[in-house]
Amino acid sequence: MAGPRCRFCRGVWGELVVDMGLQPACDHFPEVGAAEADPVFPIRLWLCADCGLAQLVEDPTIPEEVRGIEPEALVAQARSAVGMIAEAGFSTAGDTVIEHPSPHGGSWVGHLAERGVGVAAGETADLVLDCFGLMHSQDVRADLERRVRQLAPGGTLLLQFHSLAAVLAQGQWNAIRHGHPVYLSVPTAVGMLESLGLGTVRAWRFRLYGGTILLAARRGEPTATAVRALAEAELAAGVRDADVLRALHDTAADTAAALRGWLVGARSSGRTVLGYGAASRAVPLLNHAGIGPDLLPAIADGSPAKHGRRIPGTGIAVVSPEAMVERSPDEVLLFVPDLLDEVRRRYPQVEAGGGSWVVAEPRPRSVESAAHAVPT
Ligand SMILES: [Zn+2]
Repeated sequence: MAGPRCRFCRGVWGELVVDMGLQPACDHFPEVGAAEADPVFPIRLWLCADCGLAQLVEDPTIPEEVRGIEPEALVAQARSAVGMIAEAGFSTAGDTVIEHPSPHGGSWVGHLAERGVGVAAGETADLVLDCFGLMHSQDVRADLERRVRQLAPGGTLLLQFHSLAAVLAQGQWNAIRHGHPVYLSVPTAVGMLESLGLGTVRAWRFRLYGGTILLAARRGEPTATAVRALAEAELAAGVRDADVLRALHDTAADTAAALRGWLVGARSSGRTVLGYGAASRAVPLLNHAGIGPDLLPAIADGSPAKHGRRIPGTGIAVVSPEAMVERSPDEVLLFVPDLLDEVRRRYPQVEAGGGSWVVAEPRPRSVESAAHAVPT
């Protein structure tokens, strides 16, 4: 069998840095009573020695239709990013856009329309936007080249991604999962763009997902000094360092042990704990920690399409938020930290009934302490 081949530079030299073994497909939520075992697939992260792109060796899962709903934090970030782009002079009324959407949702088209930027009718546009799209790409070279071809003369390519630096800084090892074959960082993305003739003229960082990067790149322009500094900082954090990436194994073990220990403690003290957020990221975490319905009987989710299904590999049922509230949980474990403000506001019954929200990662902590832990 041939070894890995880079999804961008086609290089074959590299290192296997993370091997999570066989994991269930995290976008496939079976019916709660389905008899068949949930299918599992290997998860192996490989670091290309040539271009530095971290990527899954194989991603045989086929993403199902989108069942999630957009967190308010995602919509707010899109609005804010569109404002920053306009302020920086990269978009003006009358410009056109081609958007490459992602399964995460969060389209910018509506926000851009409010500023007079319309969807391009032709093959090219003044703005080509990839919003969390490339991280789902099986062939990054082909997809990035296509986006560059779509740039009108003088146009700007906007590339937004969850940075591998955030995964490292915050121990988000479960970002490494099926459906995400590609893990971008600033130095790697800037290098990829340069190899296609684009300089990155501006970079912004957002708190979304614990560290979201937006790059603006233009044909024939040099990469800006400030962007180079950000790339250097991410390099120093280890985004292309095989040993640093390998340590995600220990992070995974620590996170899983902390979650399991906390749930066992809650059960022995007789507290009722439910989960919130049947998101893809919860799947590897719960599986790695070996959590089943005995420790976490149900996870609520705002998306009706997920109700009556189960978290793959765990047997944990997905229920409606109303069903969660009815059970008056002492604690609700939140698996999507970006939803914290939204769920506290939407389900005040949890706290009014004496319960509390607990952010699940990197180790369970109640929202009071979470508020202090939010990076600035
Ligand atoms: Zn490569």
